[in-house]
Amino acid sequence: YFITFEGIEGCGKTTQIQRAAQSLKEAGHRVVVTREPGGCPIADDIRAILLDAGNSAMVPMTELLLYAAARAQHVAEVIAPALAEGAVVLCDRFTDSTLVYQGFGRNLDRDLIARLNTLAAGQIRPDLTILLDCPVTVGLARAAARISSRQTNREERFEQESLIFHERVREGFLALACGEPHRFAVIDGNEGVEATATAVAGVLLS
Ligand code: C5P
Ligand code: MG
Repeated sequence: YFITFEGIEGCGKTTQIQRAAQSLKEAGHRVVVTREPGGCPIADDIRAILLDAGNSAMVPMTELLLYAAARAQHVAEVIAPALAEGAVVLCDRFTDSTLVYQGFGRNLDRDLIARLNTLAAGQIRPDLTILLDCPVTVGLARAAARISSRQTNREERFEQESLIFHERVREGFLALACGEPHRFAVIDGNEGVEATATAVAGVLLS
């Protein structure tokens, strides 16, 4: 079973995916938690290129192809084998993030992105996608708090994006959820950690 967690910056994906893993393990499942971009050494190297604030000259097409390259490796090396062994795989961001950031965010052709997503992910499709939705201002405030508590002063490239960009991203996720209501569960990420974790567990264990 393949479950992805999606949403804007600071919506709580990383916290909630850990809580979800805990609930599923308690229910007796074998769980693998992973993330994109990254999830294995080669894809983590690509992630470093993507997130490096020094790479601000990167054009959207390069970005799109790097996400696709990282995903091809991650699917082949981590996700597909784990699913084949019967694990429940929880992934922090996946193909929907690419449709939304590079499509709705950067205005690249969404049919092209969908084709690249299929090329990179092959037969692997999320069975369920948890969309944690929260206002952009709330998410960005949480992300800013996280950044200021970091040990290093390293900035990520995406932290330079405008509020309007993040609004497009939020709307993009909601539009995808509307288009595929059976795959998506939209959960309010504006509540506290506990309330959100309970809502997510309710969806996962039902
Ligand atoms: O999920 P996480 O915050 O680690 O993602 C890293 C960054 O990559 C985010 O800031 C997000 O804005 C960006 N991203 C992107 N396009 C994707 C996936 C992630 O711009 N397809
Ligand atoms: Mg981030």
